[in-house]
Amino acid sequence: MKQQSLTESKINLPSTVETFVFHGRTIYIKRDDLVDLDLSGNKFRKLFFLLNTPSENYKRIISYGGSQSNAMASIAALCKRKGWQFLYITKTLSQTLKNDLQGNLASALNDGMKLLEIEHDAFEAVVRSLYTPTPDSRVGSFEGDLLLAQGGADLGAKEGVALLAEEILAWKIEHNIEHLTVVTPSGTGTTSLYLAKYMKEVAVMTTPLVGSSAYLKEQMQALERLPDNLHILETTKKYHFAKPYKEYVEVYEMMKAQGIEMDLLYAPKMLSALSEKMSEIEGEILYVHSGGTKGNVSMLERYKRKGWRRI
Ligand SMILES: *Cc1c(COP(=O)(O)O)cnc(C)c1O
Repeated sequence: MKQQSLTESKINLPSTVETFVFHGRTIYIKRDDLVDLDLSGNKFRKLFFLLNTPSENYKRIISYGGSQSNAMASIAALCKRKGWQFLYITKTLSQTLKNDLQGNLASALNDGMKLLEIEHDAFEAVVRSLYTPTPDSRVGSFEGDLLLAQGGADLGAKEGVALLAEEILAWKIEHNIEHLTVVTPSGTGTTSLYLAKYMKEVAVMTTPLVGSSAYLKEQMQALERLPDNLHILETTKKYHFAKPYKEYVEVYEMMKAQGIEMDLLYAPKMLSALSEKMSEIEGEILYVHSGGTKGNVSMLERYKRKGWRRI
């Protein structure tokens, strides 16, 4: 396993495996949310290659996306640790949001992130203009800049996800598990794609949170051919990303009662898709906690306003 440098004291690897009960079945859960308090869950895995990059290699990281993104908060924490500047491009924020900074945005700004707000209509063009037509599209136009695709969907993410796969396979052998299904939700699909790539003997199941299965596949294929052991599940009900749903907070509370805090954007839909599929799954199931709980403050506020949550 790779040795940690500078950051040893903050990182707990390998992440622990616990269990929870879901519709009467015991499911294992890999607590990747507890690996690093600042770089949450799969963002720690996806940014692992940068944690191990010498600080002098870059001056600044540039990325873009939503203003409450988990990736944004994790990149900000990474940059703070590495002494890199962080420029993040997002669509113009509403005044209400600016007056009441919360969750990931508050945390990222606190870590020194510089925010560049672009008008809604010009956003796509500005993002496209960042990319220089070189074989390595990550190289920014200025020396010392590194461009990271939205959500950290970078080829470099392989490295940390491969380490996660290694931990899972070692655990599987240690516990004599023959048939294993690993479950984790997808945004860009980077995590589940690379997990499947590095664990050919394991079935990997995921569900798309942002857009359709077809769109998810498209994003994955930009990085790598789709492995046969990767399965994309859909839920009967259609859900929109970042919207509150009553059943989401019910799943959240059911998990919380078992001592595990899940995020409110990704995990509830994944668990719902799993519940629909579970009777067909033989052997053991391992849910990989993908982190993201830092964003819960702002989501729980919305649930409270809807009257779906008392506290
Ligand atoms: C970013 C994120 C994901 C999606 O990860 P991808 O590698 O982009 O598919 C899933 N869960 C949580 C909590 C996240 O923050």
